[in-house]
Amino acid sequence: MTLNKKFILPFLAFFYCLVLNSQTDNIKTLSLLETKLIHLGFVNVQQLDSTIRVELKYATTDNFTGIILYDAGFRNAYLHSLAADKLVKAQKILKNIYPDYSLLIYDAVRPLHIQRKMYNVVKNTSKHAYVANPERTGLHNYGMAVDLTICDGSGKPLDMGTPFDYFGRTAGIRDEEGFIREGLLTRQQVKNRQLLRKVMTEAGFKPILGEWWHFNAVSLQTARSQYKVVE
Ligand SMILES: [Zn+2]
Repeated sequence: MTLNKKFILPFLAFFYCLVLNSQTDNIKTLSLLETKLIHLGFVNVQQLDSTIRVELKYATTDNFTGIILYDAGFRNAYLHSLAADKLVKAQKILKNIYPDYSLLIYDAVRPLHIQRKMYNVVKNTSKHAYVANPERTGLHNYGMAVDLTICDGSGKPLDMGTPFDYFGRTAGIRDEEGFIREGLLTRQQVKNRQLLRKVMTEAGFKPILGEWWHFNAVSLQTARSQYKVVE
């Protein structure tokens, strides 16, 4: 009995510490930005549907600026609730067709101060034309746009012909048949893009011509007149 207690108590203490540590970790990962977004009523999409995958590219160095743009610890995709509901619908439509597939989010709400940071990084480079001037707000700044792809059951993104944030004409969706004819895209790559567009448009999003990964939940005019930008 005494021997058991001797062994059990340190074990219990060890596990208690583990639990405590993981709780403090959770608190730590809620960055200032995240706290602010929750306060403003934005929704963590994975809390609505935990099967949606998220890999915020601007929270890593794996983006066109090569630097981390989001605050340390900011890992979750937040959207305006209207856009978040549509996204959950899109994931359901996708899973009805391909149960193993999932939407994979690269960027969601993008506060203006992050847009400014991005703009300043590319200001004097060849990439400046591709970043919206933060003085003119865009739908990401309202949590009404999402950048995403589709991944398979192992989390591997489907081949869409170009990477996310590719600055070239084949990122556009206007003339995909032409790109196939020119040998710049394959039929399968275009089919993968069409699947993404199908589930997103059926859920109420609108694609844009220049970027296969970007979808809007409302028009910019609606957002500017009815919703608040996130500073
Ligand atoms: Zn976008």
